[in-house]
Amino acid sequence: MRERSSPNHGSRGEPTRVDMLVLHYTGMKSAAAAIERLCDPGAKVSAHYVVEENGTIWRLVPEARRAFHAGVSCWEGESELNTVSIGIEIVNPGHEWGYRPFPEEQMAAVERLCRDLLSRYPIPAHRVVGHSDIAPRRKADPGELFDWPRLARAGIGIWPPPNLAVSERELNSADALADLPAIGYCADERSQIPALVAFQRRFRPNCYDGRLDRETVVRLSQVRTAYERSRAESDAANISRRATRCG
Ligand SMILES: [Zn+2]
Repeated sequence: MRERSSPNHGSRGEPTRVDMLVLHYTGMKSAAAAIERLCDPGAKVSAHYVVEENGTIWRLVPEARRAFHAGVSCWEGESELNTVSIGIEIVNPGHEWGYRPFPEEQMAAVERLCRDLLSRYPIPAHRVVGHSDIAPRRKADPGELFDWPRLARAGIGIWPPPNLAVSERELNSADALADLPAIGYCADERSQIPALVAFQRRFRPNCYDGRLDRETVVRLSQVRTAYERSRAESDAANISRRATRCG
C-alpha cells in the first residue's frame, strides 16, 4: 500500500455510518494523471483508494473522512452517498480514452482491498455498487468490462449466475420496471433508460442498449430476488445483534 495524501475530503458527520462501497474507473489517460487530479485541491474530487493496473494500491484519503467520489447520486432512495461510503478508483482509461479489460493483477488487488474493507465495515452485499448504478444519468463506470461475477464469487457484492428459465409473470414489462427501484436504482421517468443501461452494464454486459428485451426482463427479476434476499438477511442480522445487546 502506498500513501499519497489528497486534500479533498471532509467530515462524515455524527453519528458516523459507513455501510457502502462504490467502485469506479478513473477514466483518465494514465494512473499518474488520475492521481494528480484526485489530489488537486482545485478539482475537489478524491477517493479513498486508487488501484493501478499492476495491482499497486494507493491510499489518498483516510477511511474515517468523507472523500469526494460519488457526486450527485442516489441508491435505495438515499443521496449524500459520500457520507456513508468508501470509494475505490480503479485505473482504466475508460470509455473516453480507450476502455480496456481490467488486468488480473489489478482485479486481484481490488478483490483483496474489498475483502479487507468488508471485514471491517458492516457493508451488506446489496450496498456494493458501481458509480453508474448510483449516477446512471452521468456515469458509465466501472463499465461493462468490469468483472463483477469474479468479485461476487469472492463474496463481494451480488451477481447471480444467469438463468433463462422464466415464468409468464417475469415477462411483464411493468413488473420489470418496478424491479429497478426494488433493486436499489433511483429511477424516475426521466432516468428509467439510463438506469436500465446501468443495470445491463453490470448484470447483462454483452448488450446495454437500455431496451427491455426478454433477457433483460428475466435478469431484472433474478437480480431483484437476490437483492431482496440480501436485504432480508442483513435485516435479520441487525435484529439479532440488537436482541443480543438487550439480553
Ligand atoms: Zn466514478
